[in-house]
Amino acid sequence: MKTNFDVVVAGAGPAGSTAATLLAEEGYQVLVLEKAQFPRHHIGESLLPSGVAVLNRLKLSLPGSIFRFKRGAQFVCEKTHRTLTVSFEEALAGPPRHAWHVERPLFDVLLRDRARQAGAIIEHEAPVRTVSITPQQVLVATHHSTYAGRYFIDATGQGRLMARLHRTIKPLREFGRTAAYQHFDEVPAERLGSDGDIRIVMQPGEGWAWGIPLPNNRLSLGIVSLNPGMTAQAVEKMVAHSPLMYNWTQGSKPSSPCLVGNYSYINTAPYGARYACIGDAAYFLDPVFSSGVSLALVSAEKTVKHLSLSLRNRNEFEPDIMAPVRSDMNDAFQTFSSLIRRFYHTKMVDNLFFAASANEAYRQGIVSVLAGDVWRNDNPFQDMLRRSRRTNQRSHVAIA
Ligand SMILES: Cc1cc2nc3c(=O)[nH]c(=O)nc-3n(C[C@H](O)[C@H](O)[C@H](O)COP(=O)(O)OP(=O)(O)OC[C@H]3O[C@@H](n4cnc5c(N)ncnc54)[C@H](O)[C@@H]3O)c2cc1C
Repeated sequence: MKTNFDVVVAGAGPAGSTAATLLAEEGYQVLVLEKAQFPRHHIGESLLPSGVAVLNRLKLSLPGSIFRFKRGAQFVCEKTHRTLTVSFEEALAGPPRHAWHVERPLFDVLLRDRARQAGAIIEHEAPVRTVSITPQQVLVATHHSTYAGRYFIDATGQGRLMARLHRTIKPLREFGRTAAYQHFDEVPAERLGSDGDIRIVMQPGEGWAWGIPLPNNRLSLGIVSLNPGMTAQAVEKMVAHSPLMYNWTQGSKPSSPCLVGNYSYINTAPYGARYACIGDAAYFLDPVFSSGVSLALVSAEKTVKHLSLSLRNRNEFEPDIMAPVRSDMNDAFQTFSSLIRRFYHTKMVDNLFFAASANEAYRQGIVSVLAGDVWRNDNPFQDMLRRSRRTNQRSHVAIA
């Protein structure tokens, strides 16, 4: 048994490493147990300005081999030849006016090293198996050892450790069900574009596809389908049928295809006495608006703010200390899920994006939401989403 940790974190992805860094910088003894050896493969390469704000706070130095500038997004419809360009420069004032695309395995190494530099202890190849919470402490066990701490943070991403142990995973099946993706190397610079935008190629009724320009002449291409039966070869087929993607990838070197499925869910018990789930361990939504990593970073920052106070006041055993974080992250969940629902089930891009471009205040508001800046009260677009959610809830109650 190894003791004396204030906080034991499972998972050294963006959420876990950020939480570990911020806690260690406040002088707490932090242990991070990570299942994998780093660098390890991971998807999730396009960030939002709200995530950049957290990276700025961490004072990460950004090597050009890992990061590429992201101005915003382009929504492209190959059928109608319409393109909508959104620049983060147009958002309501506040967060940074740009974001980054990242080489994900190396980005995670950078964040892990930052946590180590701040004083956190990181152990790799240490998958957490069980977590036992008593009134006095939390006991976190791997195959080889048991660690005692005052608090446990679950940052295991899609591993969803606590949700699995507690059986509190609620799948969200109305969003994209499967994603297939590949990387292409040696893509000529001019095909990646000089703007640094992510390309979202809409495929109405089926799903959508992404094109993310990465450093080192690399392109990440993926397809997200509403159909749970998609195969890993979907990218190859899509490239053959899409003039745009054919042009991007022609003559470049493809990696082997990857397939992931059923990744959208909510953990209905994301916190309790002596534990909190952050990042994907709390919930994950369809990646169409690239919110995952940035919400993971913000959830880590918000969790540390409340946890740090509780550790200092020695009341970290109280089950509700994370209620304010849950409320904030629920705001983000509701906002993005409303947006994603509209993306799939209404003609949102036509009705909202293209039509809204005439209405300056709405457009600014949409861009702010797309920047991940979803905790403000002066966004007319977000107010509209909140109102329509309340109306829907009322009509559901009436029907019930
Ligand atoms: C198809 C697809 C495309 C995506 N595209 C984007 C995108 O463009 N932009 C974006 O922002 N997000 C994207 N995401 C989401 C993004 O990948 C995640 O939201 C993000 O990685 C969450 O970070 P995290 O730190 O919570 O979890 P992770 O990054 O998954 O880190 C969790 C860590 O925990 C470790 N772990 C797991 N189980 C255990 C255990 N039992 N014990 C110890 N360690 C454990 C894992 O090895 C891992 O290192 C995408 C997701 C999918 C599925």
